[in-house]
Amino acid sequence: MTLVRVALAQEREVDLSITYDAVVVGSGAAGGMAAHVLTSQGMKVLLLEAGKKIPIEQELRSMEWPYEHPRRGEMPPGSHAIRHNEYNIRQPPYAKKTAFKHVYSYVGGWGGSDYVKNILVDEKDHPYTGTRYAWVRARLLGGKTNIWGRLALRLSDYDFKGKTHDGYGEDWPISYADIEPYYDKVDLYLGISGYKENLPHLPDSQFQRHNKLTASELMLRKSLAKMGRTVTPYRAGVTTDGVKNKYRSKCFGRGACGRRPGGCDIHAAFDSPTGLIYPAMDTGNLTLRTNSIAHEILVDPNTGKARGVSFVDSQNHRTYEAKARVVIVGASTLESARLLLLSKSRQHPNGIGNSSNHVGHNFCEHVMGPGATGLVKELVGRAPTLDDGKPGGFYLPRFRNLQDKQPGFVRGYGFEGGGGFGIFPDGAFDAPGFGGQFKKTVREHAGAFISMGGFGEVLARYENYMDLDPTVKDRWGIPALRFHYQFSDNEKKMCEDMAATAREMFEEAGVEIIGVDKEMLTEGWSIHELGTARMGTDPKTSVLNQFQQSHDVRNLFVVDGSSHVSASCQNPTWTIMALAWRSCEHLADEFKRGNL
Ligand SMILES: Cc1cc2nc3c(=O)[nH]c(=O)nc-3n(C[C@H](O)[C@H](O)[C@H](O)COP(=O)(O)OP(=O)(O)OC[C@H]3O[C@@H](n4cnc5c(N)ncnc54)[C@H](O)[C@@H]3O)c2cc1C
Ligand code: SF4
Repeated sequence: MTLVRVALAQEREVDLSITYDAVVVGSGAAGGMAAHVLTSQGMKVLLLEAGKKIPIEQELRSMEWPYEHPRRGEMPPGSHAIRHNEYNIRQPPYAKKTAFKHVYSYVGGWGGSDYVKNILVDEKDHPYTGTRYAWVRARLLGGKTNIWGRLALRLSDYDFKGKTHDGYGEDWPISYADIEPYYDKVDLYLGISGYKENLPHLPDSQFQRHNKLTASELMLRKSLAKMGRTVTPYRAGVTTDGVKNKYRSKCFGRGACGRRPGGCDIHAAFDSPTGLIYPAMDTGNLTLRTNSIAHEILVDPNTGKARGVSFVDSQNHRTYEAKARVVIVGASTLESARLLLLSKSRQHPNGIGNSSNHVGHNFCEHVMGPGATGLVKELVGRAPTLDDGKPGGFYLPRFRNLQDKQPGFVRGYGFEGGGGFGIFPDGAFDAPGFGGQFKKTVREHAGAFISMGGFGEVLARYENYMDLDPTVKDRWGIPALRFHYQFSDNEKKMCEDMAATAREMFEEAGVEIIGVDKEMLTEGWSIHELGTARMGTDPKTSVLNQFQQSHDVRNLFVVDGSSHVSASCQNPTWTIMALAWRSCEHLADEFKRGNL
């Protein structure tokens, strides 16, 4: 086994007097990929990241046992993670008028929350307003990729050509054939583990060794195959066989993956700094400036083209300008929309790239909540096995509205799930008895539980949008984002179906049902926000072309999930990176030809 013990890539001095070939805003999956592709094409790139660079391994501590932590992983007193009920009964900004010193999104309330206290934003500094929304943000080098769940899925033409399939919304300006080679590049460069299933609606990747299903997961796979449904090992953005990258190690299944929020401190799981940014620095073409909050894309008054980015230093609160020939925004779906809307000028009075009035609109994501928990009786009393030292359980892909047509809703949903022994025994809170008998019951049942929860496509609708709040500002005086967003009947009907099919499948597999969740979680819960600057062929109804290039400003690109035309029900990060790779290759070609 290889543990990573290498010196970090050398940071170059930041010279703001020069004009860079490109400035990239944001260092997560999208910005990191832009930095990787452009620097490997020889372009001189400045990467601006709003958050800090922290010694991430010291935060994550994947090998730490709960008893080694002074509070068993809990955050210090005075810190609070917003609870489900608070999201539903209160209005954003959720941290307003609270007595807590620090307030974090709900992810800070997962077991072992102390590990994310320097990763998630403090909601007190970062308010937002409007309709209820559980917004999870990570402001640091690498963004949310430091703690993402790593389910790495491809989209298919059921997604890219959704309108053609069922008449709803818009088709993407690309098809699967356009993006397939870039999915392959992402797979091979970053590593992905999984098992080939040959499903047209969930294309296979260039997989490395897959994780083994546990006994209960395997039993579910066999049973559901009879219904024509697939239970496949979690497709993880994790290298199990290793990749050529001195900052990363291959997974040896010993970490916090199944145990708490928090990434992988040996970087077997993909994160943007070790996967993309440090290797980009090694090319000598990347300059990184952290603590740099972009608040305006600057425009050349003569041409209307982007000429750079104005940013506030989060530490000294001073404003600086970075000059560049091309501006690439990858600050994540919602922050990118905010930045475009903030960038008002004579030439772009509604915000840059917004002549269509579609920036901030057509927001979409995944709806979550419904699912089932059950007990596999035959597994009660089994000897314990190491089941949670792996990057995930199983994925059950979409089966609705493919060949069939469901009454009540369009599009589909998939389930993420898992079964087997975990660090905290499932069912311990509900087990009857006390003393020795209680412990025996808990131990005997611990490995026999299985559960799954759905992720459904939220339809992109123009009425679901974000704009700038006219009065509320963040700690640096930058106008906050205001949400105008609600689930529709389609999501509600889909969730009813999700709960029913979760029950049906467990019953079919002979799993004893312990509970079926029917409730939809708050908007935003999936952390898969998409679609605020969508791609399209018509500049009147879309913001970007098929290369994520602004229709209005040809040297402006937006390479994150904001460009997605629809949400699919598959998790978005692998698609974000494949698209960004494709667009940045095109960008580099155009740059060399002098077309930008
Ligand atoms: C707990 C959790 C689990 C998840 N699980 C999965 C999963 O299993 N599968 C999946 O596909 N996805 C998952 N996701 C989502 C995944 O993390 C995101 O899709 C992905 O990180 C998006 O990449 P991004 O670059 O657009 O945004 P981010 O990763 O959020 O990066 C954006 C970066 O931009 C910076 N930034 C923001 N505003 C500015 C500004 N004004 N100036 C400069 N910099 C700025 C931020 O600080 C951040 O570093 C999960 C996320 C979380 C938090
Ligand atoms: S199981 Fe693998 S990917 Fe997950 S934390 Fe452990 S080593 Fe990292």
